[in-house]
Amino acid sequence: MEELFFGTAGIPASSNGSDSLSGIRRVHELGLGCMELEFVRGVKMGEKTAQNVNALAKKLDIKLSVHAPYYINLNSDGETLLKSRERILNSARIGHISGAKSVVVHAGYVKKGSGLLAYEKIKKEISHIREQMDSEGLNIALRIETMGRSSQFGGLDEVLSITEVAGVLPCIDFSHLHALNGKNNSREEFANILRSIENKLGRDGLDNMHVHVSGIEYSPKGERKHLEFETSDFNYKELACVFSEFNIKGNVISESPNLEIDALKLKKEYEKSTVCK
Ligand SMILES: [Zn+2]
Repeated sequence: MEELFFGTAGIPASSNGSDSLSGIRRVHELGLGCMELEFVRGVKMGEKTAQNVNALAKKLDIKLSVHAPYYINLNSDGETLLKSRERILNSARIGHISGAKSVVVHAGYVKKGSGLLAYEKIKKEISHIREQMDSEGLNIALRIETMGRSSQFGGLDEVLSITEVAGVLPCIDFSHLHALNGKNNSREEFANILRSIENKLGRDGLDNMHVHVSGIEYSPKGERKHLEFETSDFNYKELACVFSEFNIKGNVISESPNLEIDALKLKKEYEKSTVCK
């Protein structure tokens, strides 16, 4: 990756239509560079649409990623586990056809005190899914997201450790990391997160980032809901400046309720910040 691109989690609100093609066109008009295809309520896009999405995104040079369904728990068994595997694989299959470079996954849930067991189980499942993806020739990174509640799998350390599985990379949701404990909201803390990524993945890790951000409301239990930057305490200006300081590359996806407005705000902040104040 040669640059840092900013974009929206799904179709911008100001798009002409409510379909992915209209969304890609609007992202382009707004001067943004990437869009995440939201399969969060199920993989409903067909192969034909995915091919059309691929062609248009290439033409307009919009980078794509895919968000797999929310209803996934790899720390499970029986029907839930089978469905979770299938949802990730289907996201990867359609994502691959659409030309997306990453499929983002919420890996599962963790019962209190069983963190290590959950980690081993989820790592095993992720390895199997990755093997299946490779056997189908799905050239798309599987990204495990940092999550905003302690009941969810996805602490920064876990998400970085699991990249030991080849073809698995992190999706760093900075707002979730903030919501977990109210910390991770300053220049120094953001810099520490990027240093951890570099320690684990080397400079390549910073050159191929996938980031989620939004304003966020949280309680002692963690994430409550996404907010716009201006109505939350999330320090997006310092985050933008740290992005610039570390010269990270990849895609930054705004998940604020006002999608494109906060994507543009963050991009503007990034472009003007050559030195952190
Ligand atoms: Zn997510």
